[in-house]
Amino acid sequence: MAQPRQQAMSGTTLRVAVVGAGIAGAACARALADAGHAVRVFDKSRGVGGRMSTRRVTLDCADAVLGLDHGTPCFAVTGADFLDFVEQGQRAGLLARWTPRLAPHSAALPGGAMWVATPDMPALCRALLKDLPLRTLCTVDGVRRSGATWSVESAGATVADGFDAVALAIPPQQAAALLGVHRPDWAARAQAAPMLPVWVLMGMTDAPATGCDWDLARPASGPLALVVRNDAKPTRAVLAGQAQWVVHATPDWTGAHLDTPADQVQAMLQAALADCVGGALTWRFAGVHRWLYATLAAAPGDEPTAGAWWNAGMGLGVCGDALAGGGVEGAWRSGRTLAALVTVAANGGRT
Ligand SMILES: Cc1cc2nc3c(=O)[nH]c(=O)nc-3n(C[C@H](O)[C@H](O)[C@H](O)COP(=O)(O)OP(=O)(O)OC[C@H]3O[C@@H](n4cnc5c(N)ncnc54)[C@H](O)[C@@H]3O)c2cc1C
Repeated sequence: MAQPRQQAMSGTTLRVAVVGAGIAGAACARALADAGHAVRVFDKSRGVGGRMSTRRVTLDCADAVLGLDHGTPCFAVTGADFLDFVEQGQRAGLLARWTPRLAPHSAALPGGAMWVATPDMPALCRALLKDLPLRTLCTVDGVRRSGATWSVESAGATVADGFDAVALAIPPQQAAALLGVHRPDWAARAQAAPMLPVWVLMGMTDAPATGCDWDLARPASGPLALVVRNDAKPTRAVLAGQAQWVVHATPDWTGAHLDTPADQVQAMLQAALADCVGGALTWRFAGVHRWLYATLAAAPGDEPTAGAWWNAGMGLGVCGDALAGGGVEGAWRSGRTLAALVTVAANGGRT
């Protein structure tokens, strides 16, 4: 439970609860721990990674477990700070560069190369959170301030208390529910963040009879935004004569089918994939997943802001992709930004 606050060489060591173990929460927690703070991380899921997620599928027909990356399939790197981090991850064997072969008529990828975590997408967050206290399967439904400290609540009960600060690293619409009583202005801004939904089809087929010599397609029209050959990515399992797919519907198509039953969505996306590869596919297994808050909508002229919200007087902060331009890079930068703000406050304003 509550630990006494300690004095560190560089300032006060804070006890910080980080809610959310996606890349923003993991980056925030790691930076806070590296700065000497006592961190505890809470996540509602069974594992970490958030939208950097991989669905494990055990195959009856082969002695194999597949991992289908049904959240972000890969990500781009633009900033020098993130490139430095990613290259460190590459040297540690956690990240690999991927230059997919593009399908004809696909829009070029930014920079040409993408990055994937290895051996699966959550591996990056697992590494960042290594050795930090982590509680999974814990849906935080309240954070309560009593005197100068915070408690974390789940299912109406206090699960941990005695924190000097709370960092919310969860999608904005979910953060809004926790912020309402403390910062209604932040709650309103979070609620209004333009997050896009995505239906994802994932599964395995026999290799397409038409021959299919590409790894990634970005159709210019129709229901599909992105088609990825999951088995073409570095370190993913390859099964002879089979093709593994992860297929994203466009946000518009998803929005129009938000409440369509999953089996119907699956059939429609399977048909769209067959159109995309130019012939019928023989499915070995398939499933769909609906992300309500997948990515941040980019508005024309939007400048990414290296953002996080921090109220030093309350000891309350928010980070995540929506506050820093979206995507894995934005989420990572936002988590680091919040950790830096907390640390500056702990040091009495000194950087
Ligand atoms: C289908 C799809 C495709 C994408 N494609 C790309 C791409 O091509 N490039 C790119 O850069 N990005 C892409 N993204 C976006 C990218 O994955 C996200 O921007 C990034 O992973 C967000 O990280 P985060 O830590 O901010 O949030 P999340 O990853 O959402 O992490 C939040 C964590 O908080 C937990 N949580 C939520 N509420 C609670 C609660 N109440 N209590 C406890 N825990 C809670 C969740 O379980 C989760 O682990 C894609 C995402 C999806 C879903």
